[in-house]
Amino acid sequence: MEKKLQNQVAIVTGASSGIGAGTALELAKAGAVVIVNYPFAGSKDAADVIVSEIRADGGNAQSYQCDVSKEPEVEKMFADTVTQWGTVDILINNAGIQKDAPFTSMSLEAWNQVLAVNLNGQFLCAREAIKEFLRRGVHPERSVAAGKIICMSSVHEVIPWSGHANYAASKGGIMMMMKTIAQEFAGKKVRVNSIAPGAIKTPLNHAAWETPEALQSLMNLIPYKRIGDVSDIGKAAVWLASDDSDYVTGATLFVDGGMTLYPGFEDNG
Ligand code: NAD
Repeated sequence: MEKKLQNQVAIVTGASSGIGAGTALELAKAGAVVIVNYPFAGSKDAADVIVSEIRADGGNAQSYQCDVSKEPEVEKMFADTVTQWGTVDILINNAGIQKDAPFTSMSLEAWNQVLAVNLNGQFLCAREAIKEFLRRGVHPERSVAAGKIICMSSVHEVIPWSGHANYAASKGGIMMMMKTIAQEFAGKKVRVNSIAPGAIKTPLNHAAWETPEALQSLMNLIPYKRIGDVSDIGKAAVWLASDDSDYVTGATLFVDGGMTLYPGFEDNG
């Protein structure tokens, strides 16, 4: 069977758990070599489990420690990947954190930490990826694009979220960064898009699904009446990374079971 991402090299940030891990597995199934990024020594084992799973399935992957909020570490991750694998074709800008607090008691530290990982991290990785795409240019045997970036945003790039001002601000920022760099580099055949997940079952939002009561209440927000699985996001990422979506750039793909469809109006408002 044709593999849509055969031999392309993909860096997936924050890939030792959740959506990043699920996306790494789907990209590998589609033929990509996957760099499974993790932030701290403590998450190496979890990253290596994903690498082993990919290899057991006949794929190719490597784990790589890098804190995406640290400029020298990001530069080194891209340089090392190019040295080892020749180039980078796909960046999945996925790493993200939450530090929630009511707005009046939110510390500057909590604000800065979330912006540092969620927004600065995506900026730093996107910048290094685009430099590499421009250096290499288009090689049609790999892809008709010079490179693809997929930013993991959230429905909270458009839905305000009380008690999560730092997180929502980071995702709103990602939306405009994504569109701006999509515009800036479209002429160089670089495609930049976002995926905005709704509620996906991962460690990040465990409080929203771990009890039957919480899950029931979550369903009020989801017209499609199920929580998302990481593979829902991974499969969307494969499409956005492949030449099947070659005319798509600067777009946010909402993968949210209808969460952005104003579910409060389901019963006539
Ligand atoms: P998760 O906590 O499982 O994954 C986040 C990953 O980011 C972890 O593997 C963590 O180790 C990594 N990470 C944290 N700080 C990092 C750093 N400085 N450098 C590199 N990696 C770092 O949660 P998730 O739900 O899989 O979240 C993944 C992305 O999806 C995030 O950007 C999140 O905002 C977004 N998202 C998730 C949901 C959801 O419902 N789960 C919804 C919308 C958006």
